[in-house]
Amino acid sequence: MKNLTARKTLFEAIFVFIFLVAFVAIAFWQVYSARVDSFTKTKMSLETSLLELQQKYIVSDIDTIISDVNFLTSNHHIVDFLQNTAHLEKFNIIDLQENLREFSIARKVYDQIRIIGLDGMELVRINYNDGNPSAVAQADLQNKSGRYYFEDTLKLNEGEIFISPLDLNIEKGVIEFPLKPMIRVGAPVFDYKGRKMGIALVNYFGRALLDKFMEIGKQSTSDSYLLNSDGYLLEGGYANQRWGFMFDEVDRFTFAEKYPDVWRMVLERERGQFITPAGLYTFDTVKPLAVGAVSSTGSTNAYAKSEKQLSEEEYFWKLISFVPSSLLYAEREDLKKLLLNIFLAIAIFIGIVDYKISLERYRRRQVEMQREELLNKLHVMATTDELTGLTNRHNFFEKLETEFSRAIRHKYPLGCAMIDLDHFKSVNDTYGHPVGDKLLREVADCVKSSIRQYDLAARYGGEEFICIFAHSDVEGSKAVAERIRQNIEKMTCELDDGRVLKATASIGVAFLTEGMDIEQLIDSSDQALYRVKENGRNRVEFN
Ligand code: GH3
Ligand code: MG
Ligand code: MG
Repeated sequence: MKNLTARKTLFEAIFVFIFLVAFVAIAFWQVYSARVDSFTKTKMSLETSLLELQQKYIVSDIDTIISDVNFLTSNHHIVDFLQNTAHLEKFNIIDLQENLREFSIARKVYDQIRIIGLDGMELVRINYNDGNPSAVAQADLQNKSGRYYFEDTLKLNEGEIFISPLDLNIEKGVIEFPLKPMIRVGAPVFDYKGRKMGIALVNYFGRALLDKFMEIGKQSTSDSYLLNSDGYLLEGGYANQRWGFMFDEVDRFTFAEKYPDVWRMVLERERGQFITPAGLYTFDTVKPLAVGAVSSTGSTNAYAKSEKQLSEEEYFWKLISFVPSSLLYAEREDLKKLLLNIFLAIAIFIGIVDYKISLERYRRRQVEMQREELLNKLHVMATTDELTGLTNRHNFFEKLETEFSRAIRHKYPLGCAMIDLDHFKSVNDTYGHPVGDKLLREVADCVKSSIRQYDLAARYGGEEFICIFAHSDVEGSKAVAERIRQNIEKMTCELDDGRVLKATASIGVAFLTEGMDIEQLIDSSDQALYRVKENGRNRVEFN
């Protein structure tokens, strides 16, 4: 019983614990998912905006270069100069050089500003000289007829513009160190009659553009990459991974070959975003040729002539930002740890409270159980006779009253037998009171086992018992009374020392008749008993 209570309490405690902990876990999970979702979304939109900013910056920068070149080709000093190259006057060229030098000082972004004649000979060249621009002396000017940028630009019609690939500056056939990223933008100059006179060409410092690109990128934790259309790295990554196409090395780095899957996705669309196990990729495209709404050519090989004409669609750069998983999910991991710790603390708290409450409940149940046991005991004590275990006299009268009124109401016969042991005093006198008690107990058991299911037996007093025979006719009751008497007579009570005691009983039986009350019924059976005692005992008399 105690074990059962303990197990029941334990099951309840476990159930409550699991229920509450599961409830908290679900709540925490919901908070976590909602927050994680917003973390990722915030990161994704930040990357998209930054990349858009980088893209816009590059586009506007190139737009400005194109405007500058257009300014040069439509400049009447330059047109005049080119018309008069055959009979050049000294002041003419000095004026122009000074004009272009001031232009270089003002713009600060052109490593070279050149006017080149139809034969490829440089006519005016302003070198930036790290912020101190100067015109190159006549004797030092070179013929550029072999270089792709000259030939491609010279081919163009009015309104068209040449934009070179973004590559590294080459000085006297060798890549200049430290590396000098460069974009050459040029256009042919036409005279007033529409004749092609030469070209104007600027070498734009790619460094400024690339630095700005990286600077914008630094506003997030992502890595920024700028790639050309062949998947070569122009900016971002390690220094030795950049400009692979410029170097004739066997294992030159291409992003396209290193990350073919990413590159494939990036090529598929103009802009987009995707997450791989490695992290978050965001990409965008710049198409320099589309900016000025002009067509042109370019070359991916610095040493050779243009390999082919590049259409607007073919000449593009890809901007990629990459947030590695470790950073993309850093906040998620932090939040996970925080929530997990709080969750564990709450779970432990629930466990402790649950344990204490359950312990208290267990104690209360134990007390209740003890009280119930006590009440049961008290009830037994109040209703049964201590010595024989039969119904006691007080309880007998309560039961008799119920039985009595039911018998009257339903008109069924009711018999009452008064049983008194014969010469019991002598048992006590001969064997002592404890032996008398033992005999009384055994007689009580004998009486109890001799009556039927609906009959009632009680200890009436001393060595007297009383029985009520309900739901049975007079003959049946008489038979039971006789059976009791015979059973007592047959019964033997063995003592510890081996001696055997026997007993007989005198029984007086009365039946309920009309108008009789309980007292009269009992009196009647008493009178019958008296008659038995008078007439020699160990018999049954009826009234
Ligand atoms: P009879 O009824 O045949 O006339 O003789 P009797 O000896 O039984 O006479 P009586 O009814 O007057 O005596 C009852 C005796 O039963 C008195 C008492 O010693 C004994 N007695 C009554 N209650 C108990 C009891 O609880 N335990 C024991 N051991 N003896 C009891
Ligand atoms: Mg007696
Ligand atoms: Mg007696």
